[in-house]
Amino acid sequence: MTRRAALIGHPLNRRHSEVMHNAAFKHFSIDARYELHDLAPDEVGSFIALARDESCIGFQVTAPYKQIVIEHLDEIESGAKRIGAVNSVLRGEDGSLVGFNTDAPGFRRAAESELDIRFSGLRAAVVGAGGASRAVIHALVAADAEQVTICNRTASRAADLANHFGPTVRAVEVGTAFERSLHQADLAVNATTVGMITPGAAFDPAVLPGSAVVYDLVYNPPETKLLRESRALGLAAANGLGMLVAQAEIAFERWTGVPDAGPVMLAALRDGPDPLVPG
Ligand code: NAP
Repeated sequence: MTRRAALIGHPLNRRHSEVMHNAAFKHFSIDARYELHDLAPDEVGSFIALARDESCIGFQVTAPYKQIVIEHLDEIESGAKRIGAVNSVLRGEDGSLVGFNTDAPGFRRAAESELDIRFSGLRAAVVGAGGASRAVIHALVAADAEQVTICNRTASRAADLANHFGPTVRAVEVGTAFERSLHQADLAVNATTVGMITPGAAFDPAVLPGSAVVYDLVYNPPETKLLRESRALGLAAANGLGMLVAQAEIAFERWTGVPDAGPVMLAALRDGPDPLVPG
């Protein structure tokens, strides 16, 4: 029996997850296929009922269903609970469905290895307070970062995140207050769509100390203005491709027991229909 995995969301404009997982199934000779399911809101419940069938390994979830999927599952792991979003689901032998989140450990795995840092004890400055920012902040807090400062165009969303994640996290206004945080940061993160949808840079890397490193969650284009300017200043900087691959690698290992699918997935993205390159 060919088993199934899937991504649900709406709209599904990108095929990156399908390309990565199918390349890994093929490489490791696993008889399974990863499919895209662009679902209307009233189709989510019936999709999830079908996912209890033994032909299903599990599935992934993207916008706008990362929160609403929670009510349909049997168990939510602690990280996903804390973040308030599920992006991956594992079907147990008995048909039960367990929700978890691989964006947070994916961010940590990619940022720590590509930028040669450890989150424990560092000071981070994060721009953005959307879904991706929640995963980033959870990863930093769970790994014992010393302090996480966040700012966001809509200040109230940053304040809500700081309240949610507790005393390690503080929200500051865009402008001078955030620049002071950047000035003391070991790691600066762009978790906004600036550089991808909106042109420009989410912050000025010239404010960072010379020892700081920069992670931009945007991976398309591969080199944003923020990354270009950071590198011109001599700062180590990475785009979000590593996080995209790492979150998929972690889900794949949970589904199949096979670790280290990342290099196969990355190669498939480079050669795929919509090529992505590290930057
Ligand atoms: P989201 O929930 O829609 O949040 C968007 C964020 O960007 C909000 O904080 C928003 O601020 C901010 N923003 C949008 N336009 C802005 C502008 N012109 N100036 C300043 N801030 C602006 O999106 P998301 O899911 O968190 O994704 C954020 C980014 O992360 C995207 O670029 C996405 O591609 C990337 N991402 C990458 C990965 C990966 O694996 N590498 C995973 C997830 C997401 P307001 O609150 O003020 O609107």
